[in-house]
Amino acid sequence: MKFNPKLENFKPYVPVTENYKIRLDANESCFNVNRRFLSKFRKEISRLDFNRYPDPTCAALREAFGKCFRVRPEQVVCGNGSDELLNLIAETFASKGDRVVTFAQDFSMYAFYSRLMECDVLELEKREDLTVDVEEAISACREGNARLLFLSNPCNPTSLVLDRKQVNKLVSSVPDTLVVLDEAYMDFSSESYLGELKKHDNLIVLKTLSKAFGMAAIRLGFAVTSTEIAGLLNTTRSPYNVNALTQIAGRLALSSRAAMEGRAEELTDSKTDLFNGLKKIEEISKGDFAPVDGETNFVYVRTSKVRQIDAYLRKRGISVRAFDGYLRITAGTDEENAELLQCLDEAAGILWIE
Ligand SMILES: *Cc1c(COP(=O)(O)O)cnc(C)c1O
Repeated sequence: MKFNPKLENFKPYVPVTENYKIRLDANESCFNVNRRFLSKFRKEISRLDFNRYPDPTCAALREAFGKCFRVRPEQVVCGNGSDELLNLIAETFASKGDRVVTFAQDFSMYAFYSRLMECDVLELEKREDLTVDVEEAISACREGNARLLFLSNPCNPTSLVLDRKQVNKLVSSVPDTLVVLDEAYMDFSSESYLGELKKHDNLIVLKTLSKAFGMAAIRLGFAVTSTEIAGLLNTTRSPYNVNALTQIAGRLALSSRAAMEGRAEELTDSKTDLFNGLKKIEEISKGDFAPVDGETNFVYVRTSKVRQIDAYLRKRGISVRAFDGYLRITAGTDEENAELLQCLDEAAGILWIE
């Protein structure tokens, strides 16, 4: 059997799958849902018609999202995680050979789904200080007639944020490119561009419940955009893409923005503690272990010792995410952070002192 040749050099996304005692590799929230949520969720699923298909329009869920983030429900499309929406956006708006622009140090799934559509993917490098060169991105979109531009803001993995002014410049300067602004971590920052959506007809903002809301298990993401683009995504998505259990859990989680904001604040405090602890390792390493000061629930660290540190931590039951020349460490509970920092301190004694 001969398969589509596009699959020949296709590499799967490989998350950490082994079991570690302390999991700081996937940017999940370290807080599980609370008892109040669980009791409401139980009550609702005890009344659920399991024999019926879920609401294909996710009406109540979009209503709850709209209230929570002050957008109109008609502007919202729900997905089985924002991952499904990334795939749907590539399928819907790009064809074989189309130019798609993204960044080398950004979420790898942008290039992944675009390559699956056989697009011509251009991955721009970040600057030396890991910031986005907005002018370069504008030129790349204009010159290449780019169909799509993907970026995360704040960025995974760099943790850095582009302010609204720069985002406005970027989106306004490429009217023929559909800009996908992935705000998966924006609950940890204050530069959300959701409020400016109406200024543009070439913009999709993505949100997810997987991070600050602490609900990665239910797989729920949102595309917020013009009613025209939302309409197009609604014609191309599969009809029952968000299951009934997820619709219920998502609606309950979105009913209290204050609760999410409280947890986001706790996670930000945990990240600040982690960052301060990592700065002490930086001193021991004489600069070969340099944490980035960002606005997410994780810390990105530049180091020449990625392999050694990753191996040392794994042996001690701690998983972090390893990249070329960088480690990405999710903020955990106080105990998890303390254990991680203790292990890093030991590793630093071996790597940089002896
Ligand atoms: C975690 C993450 C998401 C969320 O994906 P889901 O499929 O909603 O879990 C999206 N974008 C980025 C950049 C992320 O880091």
